[in-house]
Amino acid sequence: MIPYGRQHLDEEDVKAVVETLTSSWLTQGPAVPKFEAALADYCGAEFGVAVNSATSALHIACLALGVSEGDRVWTSPNSFVASSNCALYCGAKVDFVDIELNTGNMCVDALRNKLALAESINALPKVVIPVHFAGQPCDMKEIRVLSKQYGFFVIEDASHAVGAKYQEKFVGSCEFSDICVFSFHPVKIITTMEGGMALTNNSEWAEKMRMLRSHGITNDPEKMTEDSHGPWYYQQIALGFNYRMTDVEAALGLSQLKKLPGFLEKRNALAKYYDNLLSVFSCIKPLQQRGDSYSSYHLYVARVESLTNKQHSDLIKNLREQGVFAHLHYIPIHIQPYYKKLGFKMGDFPNAETYYRQAITLPLFPELTLEDVEFIVEKLTAEING
Ligand SMILES: *Cc1c(COP(=O)(O)O)cnc(C)c1O
Repeated sequence: MIPYGRQHLDEEDVKAVVETLTSSWLTQGPAVPKFEAALADYCGAEFGVAVNSATSALHIACLALGVSEGDRVWTSPNSFVASSNCALYCGAKVDFVDIELNTGNMCVDALRNKLALAESINALPKVVIPVHFAGQPCDMKEIRVLSKQYGFFVIEDASHAVGAKYQEKFVGSCEFSDICVFSFHPVKIITTMEGGMALTNNSEWAEKMRMLRSHGITNDPEKMTEDSHGPWYYQQIALGFNYRMTDVEAALGLSQLKKLPGFLEKRNALAKYYDNLLSVFSCIKPLQQRGDSYSSYHLYVARVESLTNKQHSDLIKNLREQGVFAHLHYIPIHIQPYYKKLGFKMGDFPNAETYYRQAITLPLFPELTLEDVEFIVEKLTAEING
């Protein structure tokens, strides 16, 4: 079975992990700040805060920006549930902005219209979380213009987009955002097993996120509200969590980071090959790429038009039966039962729903070969034509 995504680990990665396992640090130690500095440096951001998942990073990013009860947070319905759950953790209200069919990303025109309406009823969001779907950056410049105009913060959910570029700048530079979040889950671009990181250029938010990832505890005498009781002393000054990354994970992340450019080249070359092979089939529409960005190609997604729901589901099922583990990203968040209970319903975000009826995720990962791509395209097109 060809999986839809898969980590690539080599001897060097294994060595980095084993060396850390036999060092004196297992939990958060010297490798964590090293990994934070290395990735922040790579992306051109000032601060990196490593945590145990992107979900945790999204949560503490919202908290650092002051999201709390009564606030509104908007994100894309075409994403993993973590993109919106993070706001619910803070007691905020979630809403969604519909997507563009051809990229799967949040539609800036839809955002603009929704903001104008929200302003008229005094219901503007505190934070908007664009998701760089499949690794292709959203139109961040336009989103930044709106964020200045309407006074909301921007957290990039860049779980798919480690190493992607938007207008010559790496995603994560936070050039057009306040905080940017990466995931290092094994199917993503680089892995630490579980893991995530929040990048920012704001020292206050970075410090707050560091404190929140470790119980809300500080060792900094300047931050303490009373004199120290002695050398063992620490203070809890906020309600934080245990969201720490381990040193073993950070050591793997450091080792994986060295291979990032190679991973991206492979993913891009394979995606181009898919694009070429699929270009002769007019009913198959691969995600369109912006001219001014470099996708990290976490996923290879195409839409197949004019299929019934049954045909769409059979297509994915039949591909799996033939050894191609096709997948579907994403079930629109607003039609999840939990979100329906919050008041969302089918029909709320029509593009995300149309997209869901058409999309198919084909395998893409660095170890995939051109021959694999040919095999996958052959199976796909035979299914559609048959
Ligand atoms: C994977 C993913 C997450 C969550 O990442 P974890 O590291 O597994 O918590 C959040 N948002 C998006 C868009 C993702 O793909």
